[in-house]
Order: sequence, then C-alpha cells, then structure tokens
Amino acid sequence: MSQRFSGTVALVTGGNRGIGLAAAKAFAAEGASVVIAARQVADGEAAVESICGTGGTAIFIQTDVTSSDSVEAMVARTVETYGALHYAFNNAGITGTVNLSVEDADIGLFEQVMAINVTGTWLGMKYQVPAILKSGGGAIVNCGSVASLRGSIGCSPYYASKHAVLGMTKCVALENAARGIRVNAVCPGLIMTELVENGFKQAPEKLAMLKARIPMQRTGVTNEVANAVLWLCSDEASFVNGVALPVDGGSSV
Ligand code: NDP
Repeated sequence: MSQRFSGTVALVTGGNRGIGLAAAKAFAAEGASVVIAARQVADGEAAVESICGTGGTAIFIQTDVTSSDSVEAMVARTVETYGALHYAFNNAGITGTVNLSVEDADIGLFEQVMAINVTGTWLGMKYQVPAILKSGGGAIVNCGSVASLRGSIGCSPYYASKHAVLGMTKCVALENAARGIRVNAVCPGLIMTELVENGFKQAPEKLAMLKARIPMQRTGVTNEVANAVLWLCSDEASFVNGVALPVDGGSSV
C-alpha cells in the first residue's frame, strides 16, 4: 500500500458510513490522520475503531453540517488534535425525495436537503480554507453526484442541491487557485449505500430503471468513489482544479 498521505490530516464529513467511511479508511490506510465528522455517535465510534484496529489514526467529532457553530468547532478541534488540516472531503448528504414532482414535494423537505447538501458543503469550505492555508496548503473535494450534471423526474430538491455544490466548488477553486488549495468535486453514479437503499424504498421501479441504464451494467462500490477522492487530493492531481469528476460507470455520458 502506498503512503501518499503520510504525515497529513484529512477530514471527512459523513465519514461514519457509506462513501465517506470508505474515503476515511482509504486516507488512513495511506498514512493520514483522519477526522470522521457526522451526527450519529455509535456509527462514528465504530468507524474509528475499525480504522484504529487496523493500525490507522482516527477520531470522531460529532458534527451537524447544517450548523455554523458545529462546523467551526469541527475544524477547530481537528487542528487542536492534530495540529493541522490538509484535506477535506465534504461528503455528508441526503437525497430527500426520489419520486415527488415539484408540486407534490413540500418546502420543509426542500429546505432540509438544501441545508445538509448545500449549506453543509459551503460551511465546510468556509472553515476549512483558513485552516488549510495555515497548514501550508492542501485540497478539498466536495461530493457532487450525477445529479450535478443532468436532470431527472421526481427529485428536484436533490438535483438543485447537487448543481449548487458544483457552483460553489468552481468559485472556491478560483478563489484559492493561487493560494495552494485545489478544490474539486467528485460525482458518483449509483453506489449501493444506505442512502440509495432507503431513498428508493418507495420507488423500487425507479431504482431498477436507473440500474438498467448504467452503461457498465453494474452499480458502483464505495471504494471506487474513495479512490477518486484520494486521487483528486493527491499530488498526482496537482494541476487538476475546479473539475467535476464523474465516477459513474459512464452514466453521465
Ligand atoms: P449514506 O446515507 O450512507 O451516508 C450519508 C452520510 O452523511 C452519513 O455519514 C450521515 O451521518 C451524514 N450526514 C447526513 N446529514 C448530516 C448532517 N446534518 N451533519 C453531518 N453529517 C450528516 O450516503 P452515501 O454514502 O451514499 O452518500 C454520501 C454522499 O454521496 C452524499 O453527499 C450523496 O449525495 C452522495 N452521492 C451518493 C450516491 C449513491 O449512489 N450512494 C450517488 C451520488 C452522490 P449521520 O447520519 O450520522 O449524520
């Protein structure tokens, strides 16, 4: 196993499950000291145990990404604990609805999706950028989606939120391009996690349709997204900035 992130500090929001957990484990396996930030403590502690149990270094910081105070405290505790912050994966997210047309979806649902996926990502960068600058530079990856790149029927809040993630990724990439922080987005296709399993419970026929349309004829696995996140953070991507990288088996093509 290479050690591309030896001596560095990586923060993953939503790192206690799914894609975030895969990224946290991958950063730790490559030598980074890892922070897992999310709301559910039991999952967070289990994630830390599994990383530390295999020789990695990780802590859990209970965080609600919709709260400015909570996100500020997350970054402050990261720096207090490890002395620096170099990489952040702003991954926490929810789907909201997958089968409600705009007239049927309620505003509360729209606001919840925007609060976690949009405000959460923006707040992450707001506090991570100064900490990464003080640490001598690094990289941020935001979690977009194939929903950042096209439209779909029945999930306008989620698609709006994931388009917004790309907009802010580009702006913050430009703001920091000459300051030693690269900012990119990863855009996963269908990856079988709790988010998909729970999200599509009410619409199994839609899930079947989405699966059938994947050109590679299979869903992705969390490690395939984690690998892209680590590559975007690594020196191998040293001239890659402001991009939206699909990891979707060709779905967005
Ligand atoms: P999961 O449901 O498995 O994980 C979601 C993560 O987000 C959990 O760790 C959850 O932790 C965290 N989270 C949710 N709300 C908050 C909050 N308010 N504050 C802090 N953390 C929060 O989903 P995935 O791993 O599938 O999704 C991860 C990202 O990937 C999301 O942004 C999603 O939109 C994106 N994505 C996923 C795809 C897929 O097919 N799975 C496809 C495209 C994009 P907790 O509940 O403990 O807070």
